Amino acid sequence: MIEKIKKRERIRASEDLREIDLLFVEDEELIRESFRRMMGKKVRNFYLASNGEEGLEVFKQKSPQIIISDIQMPKMNGIQMISKIRKFDKDVKIMIVSAFNDSEYLFKAIENDVSSYLVKPINKSKLYKQLNDLAQMILFEENKNKIFDIVNQVISHQENMVIVVGENQVKLANQEFLNYFSVKTTQEFNKRVDLCQEFLKGSEYFFANTLHNIDDCIEEMNFEKIKNNIIISMRDTRDNFAKDFLVKMTKLNGLDGHSYVLTFTNITDISRKSKYYEKRATYDDLTKIYNKAKFNELFERNIFLCRNKNLDLSLILFDIDNFKIVNEKCGHIGGDKILLQLALLLQENIASNYIYARWGGEEFIVLLPKVCVEKAVEVAENLRIAIESYTFKTIEKITCSFGVTKVENYDTIESSIKRADEGLYRAKNAGRNVVIEL
Ligand code: GH3
Ligand code: MG
Ligand code: MG
Repeated sequence: MIEKIKKRERIRASEDLREIDLLFVEDEELIRESFRRMMGKKVRNFYLASNGEEGLEVFKQKSPQIIISDIQMPKMNGIQMISKIRKFDKDVKIMIVSAFNDSEYLFKAIENDVSSYLVKPINKSKLYKQLNDLAQMILFEENKNKIFDIVNQVISHQENMVIVVGENQVKLANQEFLNYFSVKTTQEFNKRVDLCQEFLKGSEYFFANTLHNIDDCIEEMNFEKIKNNIIISMRDTRDNFAKDFLVKMTKLNGLDGHSYVLTFTNITDISRKSKYYEKRATYDDLTKIYNKAKFNELFERNIFLCRNKNLDLSLILFDIDNFKIVNEKCGHIGGDKILLQLALLLQENIASNYIYARWGGEEFIVLLPKVCVEKAVEVAENLRIAIESYTFKTIEKITCSFGVTKVENYDTIESSIKRADEGLYRAKNAGRNVVIEL
């Protein structure tokens, strides 16, 4: 039943067509007249021509967005007219109407990039259907170009670098951006793959691949959540210095595919300073491994993660034995060198997913996510042996005492460290250079 209704349903000229200028080229007056009756009031401007020569003239003067043309005509036939038009307009939509179902004409029409083909006598519904589709396409393109024009005007007045990206390329760029990369046009930028890579250098930044993959990058990073704090580093081709930029993204609506406006604010001074302070707040000055503050931050996060997923979490605290004596023998600077070597030894002898830090003077701490306490004791024991058997540069041998504990569900950072410390204390009392689990 529904099928039947559909079949009977007539397609009408769409509202879109009212914004279209149409040229109809046909040598037979009767057909021209009946077409005028059919289409004249459905489009914005309706033009008629009675042969190819006339059609070409009208096209040059009026630039209609759609041309419908007959093939067989005196003076200049439809195919000849179209191939002339195509020489200076690759985009105008052209529709062929003919009584001939001749494949040779069809091939020629295809060669000339004809949008569609109708056989006489013209079926109204089919005609409207095709014209409606063309009109929709044309208006969409025009709208897109309008948006691009406006955006282009807006970005050209920005002091910051601004670009519009999408479909894995830079679609628009302001002068600031082009200057930064010493290119004249966006096309040139897109062709220079080396520049695109330069643009996205630095793995700590989110889109570290190439700009050619920017669509994927945007997709991947769930950009809604972090759109306000993307920082990237780019080399300024004019002085060769890498500079840091805060990148803001805004989606451009009303275009096919995804287009984003990217604004780059130069924050090199601020970001250098903040990197410096962040480094100081994260790493121990002497050994360059994590400090207490950073360790506590990571400890807290891991307590949360392991508890959520019901995973083991273990802790090792260790301390150099008789370090006072070491200092007395090699001096404070010699003692410092030992601390540095010990940090390196620790780094080399521990799995990369464990978190370690200098806890204080000659005390070190290791957090072992997803590791049961029995395994943690093993890790500590291996570390103890590695230290004991290592030949240090300033003083040949040192040893360490270890306290190991399981971080329980009811533990806080303080209570678990307290227990590990108690284990360490007992290890010292047990004669040093041992591992005690508590
Ligand atoms: P124990 O086996 O009981 O741990 O004995 P210890 O001598 O190692 O312990 P104690 O706590 O009595 O002394 C620790 C020493 O470590 C004293 C301190 O001067 C030294 N120390 C702490 N921090 C540093 C540092 O950064 N560099 C140097 N060279 N020595 C340090
Ligand atoms: Mg004819
Ligand atoms: Mg000590």
